Amino acid sequence: MAHLKLFGTIFGSTFKKPATRLYPFEKREAFAHTRGMIKFENAKCNSCSLCQLKCPTGAIKVDRMAKTWALDRLKCILCGACVLACNKAALSMVGEYAGLQVDKTVVVEIATGGTATPEKPAA
Ligand code: SF4
Ligand code: SF4
Repeated sequence: MAHLKLFGTIFGSTFKKPATRLYPFEKREAFAHTRGMIKFENAKCNSCSLCQLKCPTGAIKVDRMAKTWALDRLKCILCGACVLACNKAALSMVGEYAGLQVDKTVVVEIATGGTATPEKPAA
């Protein structure tokens, strides 16, 4: 009887949809409030450095003279403290996870009038 049950399972599995996704071709939608990566909108930034002060891991460096905002993505623990600290709404948390990247630190110029997702490789 046990072998009949086994064959039933085998035949059943043959015609069922797979339990897993064909990643990376099929990606799951991110859940609400997923902390995937930080998005920086350089046109909104006024170089106040509040995000740098509040970052517990020292992942952000704001250079007022050079007008740059830099994120060391390997130091970032995605706590969201910088997003809460920014009163210019220049930072937000994106649900999508960061892709593979060679450079650990990403530097973005401030006030160039664009939007950047520093953790995401350029398309
Ligand atoms: S999410 Fe947290 S660790 Fe990452 S840059 Fe912002 S404050 Fe720093
Ligand atoms: S991102 Fe926000 S908190 Fe950070 S320097 Fe720019 S304006 Fe200030």
